[in-house]
Amino acid sequence: MNSLRTVKGMHDILPKEMPKWHFLEETFRELVDRFGYQEIRTPAVEPLELFVRGIGEVTDIVEKEMYAFEDKGGARLALRPEGTASAIRSYIQHNIGGQQPISKFYYVGPMFRRERPAKGRYRQFYQAGAELIGVEEPTADAEIIDMAVQFVEALGIENVRVQINSLGDQETRPLFRDALVEYFAGDLDKLCPDCRRRLQTNPLRVLDCKVRDCVETAAGAPSVLDYLTGEAAGHFNELKRLLDENGTPYQVAPKMVRGLDYYTRTIFEIQGESDTLGSQATIVGGGRYDNLVKDLGGKQTPTIGFAFGIERLLLMLGPGASVAVRPTIYVAGIGDGGLDRAITLARTLRKAGNKIEVSYREGSLRSQLKRADRYGAIIAIIAGEDEAARGNVTWRNMKDGSQEEVSLSDLDERLEAHK
Ligand code: ATP
Ligand code: MG
Repeated sequence: MNSLRTVKGMHDILPKEMPKWHFLEETFRELVDRFGYQEIRTPAVEPLELFVRGIGEVTDIVEKEMYAFEDKGGARLALRPEGTASAIRSYIQHNIGGQQPISKFYYVGPMFRRERPAKGRYRQFYQAGAELIGVEEPTADAEIIDMAVQFVEALGIENVRVQINSLGDQETRPLFRDALVEYFAGDLDKLCPDCRRRLQTNPLRVLDCKVRDCVETAAGAPSVLDYLTGEAAGHFNELKRLLDENGTPYQVAPKMVRGLDYYTRTIFEIQGESDTLGSQATIVGGGRYDNLVKDLGGKQTPTIGFAFGIERLLLMLGPGASVAVRPTIYVAGIGDGGLDRAITLARTLRKAGNKIEVSYREGSLRSQLKRADRYGAIIAIIAGEDEAARGNVTWRNMKDGSQEEVSLSDLDERLEAHK
């Protein structure tokens, strides 16, 4: 029989990789908590309609990448490709805005996109993100960008670029679309087949295409900034002023658009350099989606947020970045009744908050010390027959092999330093 393996593009995250994951997740949780964001957890499966309406029908995600299926009862469902649509659905469904006019959520969880797998590109990957719902003012934009930048800094990632742009209001979209269609009309043959189609359905997407000819052709395209309403331009200027005031570094990227349809006004990306991902890989993406709550059936409610892919951020972390792993203490029982003594002692020490490995079976001191080594234990506590008679154990430093006999009643105090 063939051995069973992970589905193409999906990957196991093995225990040895977890310290980095925990470091990243704990850094994120701790940071967003300071800004007053609360966690929300929504199902991985949602009605397909949520993403079609939320993300937009003519986006790569919905057109090509979604895991959509019919269940046995004929319901049209999808594995979520991102977190925002679900968070907003939940906000509306539970009338959270009624109780909490300004709502601040964060989420962490697996997302699913059927893309061509590559380094840092998977079919199941993890995203975390934050949503600030109910604030129209650019102070919200500035806070969310500041929070994202502080997060990346807290991870120890250096040399990042923060790029911002404004996609304007609903009035901007049709004007800018027309300008793009006109601009690309003369160069249709230079565009990839996808972009020739996108020009009909969703011309903004052409600016987001990564095919080289399309990137080159788009180089002289008009900028959305020239089509902003006075109000949207004012919002953008005020955001820049606030970022300057905070000392948040940024660049205006007048050609930047983002892959989801729901963005309005401010969009931003944080890009970083990495050996594996190449220079200027996008590591955080976000922006404003002031119409999303309404489009998904709620009241008009301005919203801004960001998301990042955890795997991709982890590729950028240095070797030093991980949560400190608690040291392991090994308890070895030898001689008559040794196993029982060891198990009883291990239980007491674990209850007292120590991280303890203990043998599951009888064994010689030599074999147990070998095991202690394999666990990476820094101390072995040896519960031998003779010491036990004196109410003592042997304390062995696994690094240098030095040993001393110590009283059981002194263990708590000695272990305190290793918790
Ligand atoms: P890309 O241009 O790389 O496809 P995107 O614009 O589709 O990215 P978003 O939808 O903005 O990405 O998602 C935010 C972040 O989620 C990305 O910056 C990236 O870190 C991560 N991400 C997106 N798709 C994947 C994937 N297939 N595998 C791993 N991480 C991903
Ligand atoms: Mg993508």
